[in-house]
Amino acid sequence: MIDLHIHTTYSDGSCTISNVLKEAQSKKISTISITDHNTVSAYNELENNEIRSLYKGNIINGCELLTSYNGELIDVLAYNFDMQLMLSYLNANYLTLEQKHVKEAEMIKEIYPKSPLYIDRSLLYPSLDKTLSAIHDVGGVAFLAHTFAYSEAIVSELENIIKEYKIDGFECYHTTFTKEQTQYLLQFCNDYNLFKSGGSDFHGENKINHNMGIGDGSLNINEDLIKDWYEQPQIKK
Ligand SMILES: [Zn+2]
Repeated sequence: MIDLHIHTTYSDGSCTISNVLKEAQSKKISTISITDHNTVSAYNELENNEIRSLYKGNIINGCELLTSYNGELIDVLAYNFDMQLMLSYLNANYLTLEQKHVKEAEMIKEIYPKSPLYIDRSLLYPSLDKTLSAIHDVGGVAFLAHTFAYSEAIVSELENIIKEYKIDGFECYHTTFTKEQTQYLLQFCNDYNLFKSGGSDFHGENKINHNMGIGDGSLNINEDLIKDWYEQPQIKK
């Protein structure tokens, strides 16, 4: 079993890194990825051997990047990238919470002086195009996260999206997907030769029924899903 979509206290999850690792170990999950929103800070802690040793399985570098696409905000999951390069990209392209508040205040004044309640937040985030290029530049692979969580337009445009953008694959398994939705995406990826990923979107107590590894109870993602883009490190003899 693998789980490539996990949040910690470094974004909006309720569990610390240590608790995430302990839970992954107790559930015998073979490969995980910690995918906090627009940050890779959690990975600093994994440099600490004592913390890293809480979990015996593989950890794939990961991050979930909020991205603008046609005025809508969508999430792109990046995996298996160079950590230092990704850190530099995030620092240069994502605002801190404080910077975001300042920017929003400016936007209210400058762009929408007559309607202060509306802010187009998609203007605060890098475009899909830019995000995908950046993920490739830092050596990673890019997946559209939870495809069915967005407007109808996104689902109906999947073919156009893969033609126009260099997206590598889709998150085919997610706690919120029905069996039919998962089947649809698996088939779509097969038809267009795209990579597949999957995860629970675990947030600890901040999202009920998104349990690590098993989602709402029915998730059980096999390691084979990712074998065409991730090679498990060989154990040194
Ligand atoms: Zn997520």
